Amino acid sequence: MRYATLRDLDEAGLDIRVWCYGCARHADIWSGLWAEFERKGWSTELGDLPARFRCTRNRHDGTRHDVLIIPTKRPPPRPWAEEVAAFFHGSRAARKAESRG
Ligand SMILES: [Zn+2]
Repeated sequence: MRYATLRDLDEAGLDIRVWCYGCARHADIWSGLWAEFERKGWSTELGDLPARFRCTRNRHDGTRHDVLIIPTKRPPPRPWAEEVAAFFHGSRAARKAESRG
């Protein structure tokens, strides 16, 4: 499957890795952020994400710090987080089933 949005990754159990070409650093970001993005009215399309994740060294050294967004494996959750996630995903699946009518 090709992933189009942050939510697609979240539902596939993947996070995003933000890779900076300028300084070859990366950060892994929880893809569940899509809900926050939607709340703010921001695009969650993967192609639109680099504009939201700027390298923190961007302004300091005159180098271009363009970032690349790639899917990455989500780290295993702690037991309490698993329970919360199971509840959250379960209730979301239920809502989805309802909205399909
Ligand atoms: Zn950088």
